Amino acid sequence: MSENCRHDCQFWDEELETMPREQIREIQLAKLKKQVKYNYDNSIFYRRKFDAAGLEPGDIKTWDDFKKIPFMDKNEHRATQDESLERFGHPYGMLACAPREKIVRLSATSGTTGTPTLYMLTKNDIKVLNNLHARKYWRIGLRPGDTVIVAFALSMFAGGVPSVDALWDYGMCVAPVGAEARTRRLLEFTALTKPTVLFCTPSMVEHLGEQCEKILGKPAATLGIKYLLCGGEPGAGMPEFKKRVEDMFGARMYDMLGSVQTLHAISCGGETYRGMHFLSEDFCILELLDPQTGQDLEFTDGVTGEYVFTYLDWEGTPFMRYRMGDIMQINTGACECGWPEMRLKLIGRTDDMLIVKGINIYPSAIKNILEKFAPRVTGAFRIVLDRPGHQVTPPLQLKVEHAPGLESQQITELKKEIEQYMSETARVRPEITFIPPFTLERSEHKTRYIEIK
Ligand SMILES: [Zn+2]
Repeated sequence: MSENCRHDCQFWDEELETMPREQIREIQLAKLKKQVKYNYDNSIFYRRKFDAAGLEPGDIKTWDDFKKIPFMDKNEHRATQDESLERFGHPYGMLACAPREKIVRLSATSGTTGTPTLYMLTKNDIKVLNNLHARKYWRIGLRPGDTVIVAFALSMFAGGVPSVDALWDYGMCVAPVGAEARTRRLLEFTALTKPTVLFCTPSMVEHLGEQCEKILGKPAATLGIKYLLCGGEPGAGMPEFKKRVEDMFGARMYDMLGSVQTLHAISCGGETYRGMHFLSEDFCILELLDPQTGQDLEFTDGVTGEYVFTYLDWEGTPFMRYRMGDIMQINTGACECGWPEMRLKLIGRTDDMLIVKGINIYPSAIKNILEKFAPRVTGAFRIVLDRPGHQVTPPLQLKVEHAPGLESQQITELKKEIEQYMSETARVRPEITFIPPFTLERSEHKTRYIEIK
């Protein structure tokens, strides 16, 4: 527990978590100046980048100056890793700002294409990271004494070992069973250890819920789980999916963000999804860009764009103005729950954005629409494209699983209904092909919704 935290208080670090945003912005700016100097002094990559932009650390004094720092992205990250391997024979030489002997953890993002991009952490970074995790866990009411089954893949990726470490550090009782154990073992361990928390991707929660009766001979609602802590995919932020899975378990589903980085957020619970509260703004500068023009977007209520982050108080690989290619919506209006922070909602990846007759649509939006038709559909679907890329030649083709026991007449009606509904709500009319229930592969990690013909 944080030294500042009283047991009856809803904040882990009350002073920082309830600070007015203007004051947090001042803290950010002060930390930023230090971070810029640190990065410049300790990394070849940042020195070169600043020199090329004609900048010196002392030039960064205001928020306008901050915008002069060049962006970086995964391609540059990979290229710098390669250059490091070539020049130094190890990946630390270019990007790492801390000396090699202080790097104690390597993490990576769970990207599905290309060489993984490494994140290097010092002991201090892990301390900062665990503290930010603790803010999320405390806020939703998890306390030491809660048992958690970790069903993310137990890897160096976000939900794996780094999260297990944070849960341990927080004082929870952790059963790191892992997605590798597969469905049967996960359910058996759940029955054996009586956890109050299930920690995994939304796809995995759904899968465990669906299989529970078959494997354990009783419904998921009898397991005693109260919290479904989800991340890695947008599912927990989709109202229909959330409700269906919550009903399956008789539990509350929370959507969370934050892994090996300093951008941490968690949803506030309740029946209505209101986005994830951004709990780590004193450690992370967030920016939003128009994904097409790259123009800076102001934080207004409901604004949507590609997010860019900058780490503060970080030693290993303190990234600056990093574009991950994820689209986020920000809500700045007060939340009914009373928590003070703005809320974030992940919409999808710029890579997954589809453009049908000039309309942008993401797989998560399609999933959300299909969920409205449950239980007549199982929720599983694929988007079938003729070729890779964002541009889709209409109509947008979808393969959708119908529920067991539907007559062909009912399927025909359902097809009409969904096509009509999607055309009205998302302004894209799909062409749906129905397939029998449970014929699409269920992913225990991240579902890939797009199939190329
Ligand atoms: Zn809220």
